[in-house]
Amino acid sequence: MHHHVLPEKLWLKILIGMIVGVGIALNVSIPESYMPWVELPGDMFIGILKMVIVPLVLSSVILGIGSAGSLSYLRSMGVRLIPYFIFTTAVAITIGLTITSVVEPGLAIDQSLMKPAEQVTTQKLLDITIPERIMNVVPVNPAEAQLSKNMLQLVILGVIAGIALLMLRTKSTKTFRDVCEFTQDACMLVVGWAMWLAPFAVASLMITAVSAMGLSALSSMALYVACVVGGLMTMMVVYMVIVWIIAKRNPFQFLSDIRAAQIVAFSTSSSLATMPVTLSVAEERLKTSDDVHGFVVPLGATINMDGTAMYQAVVALFLCQVFGIDLSMGETVILVVTTIGASIGTPGLPGVGVIVLATILSGIGVPSEGVGMILGVDRLLDMCRTTINITGDLTATAVMQRWMHK
Ligand code: ASP
Repeated sequence: MHHHVLPEKLWLKILIGMIVGVGIALNVSIPESYMPWVELPGDMFIGILKMVIVPLVLSSVILGIGSAGSLSYLRSMGVRLIPYFIFTTAVAITIGLTITSVVEPGLAIDQSLMKPAEQVTTQKLLDITIPERIMNVVPVNPAEAQLSKNMLQLVILGVIAGIALLMLRTKSTKTFRDVCEFTQDACMLVVGWAMWLAPFAVASLMITAVSAMGLSALSSMALYVACVVGGLMTMMVVYMVIVWIIAKRNPFQFLSDIRAAQIVAFSTSSSLATMPVTLSVAEERLKTSDDVHGFVVPLGATINMDGTAMYQAVVALFLCQVFGIDLSMGETVILVVTTIGASIGTPGLPGVGVIVLATILSGIGVPSEGVGMILGVDRLLDMCRTTINITGDLTATAVMQRWMHK
């Protein structure tokens, strides 16, 4: 990637946008008929980012693998990255479960708050067999993967095309690589245009978010919200320790480098929509190599969701407390394993972490009725967990840079 898209002090501009948005939301009552206009900059911003996702993921993964240089290098990257992802996810879940079992937010809940979860379309991932799940990952129909933005299939498609680029040495190899490079540059150019909109978009997104936040539900659910937010903040500290000790970078410098991506993740609630910004932060601020961020960021935005995993674990344990269910040791293990799986399977879109929850709940025998109760405060928690998801991807990028290039 050679096209630089992040303006100086971008984070400051979008932070101001965020504050202005919250200020307007809390102090001005906007007539219903103006809302589509208020939402326009935010929708436009996310629309432009989503527009470039498919070509950007494909070209970044292909070039990332292409610049890895060899299959054995690729393998050594995979055997480090995948265990790292699983390890950090397990740490996040452990923190979430520990905080929730110490604070016991479920005991403070009035049972009458319970609402049936009819509004929630729950998804039973457990009904799918393992061979079916494996086949679900194969990009049998690339056009369909692009249409439905099936990210895992797209990443795998990119890996396969990238390996072909490594293995075939024909006349047209260079042409294909050039086409990918141009595609990537063109996508980033477009992302650069979206960045001009970013401060206004963030203000617009915050206005909509604050009104969807359910501030009235917040007080009765305060302990639960505190558990999730406290867990996520603990995870942030864990990342900073990893950045410091494993990636050998100054954590404060790291934080200020990635601020723009964090704010965009917070206001869009979508790892996927944020991915173009995450990529440019890695390239331009963290100065990682193409083979590292080209591979780690798209893959991470798809399967590495520590914030979502922690959230799902906290909700599961919280609902156990509400319904008076005692978890045995074995059930706790099932909870951890299904949560790792569920967070991998959760797409990086707003609010889907809560939908995938049903899998986990049925695994430990919690009625999914409880989900209705947590929906009221989900918007705020979604923003927070998405910020952690993105921070986890950038932490992984810094770690892999250290492991692969030192
Ligand atoms: N919104 C989250 C993300 O995009 C996923 C979730 O709902 O937990 O990372």
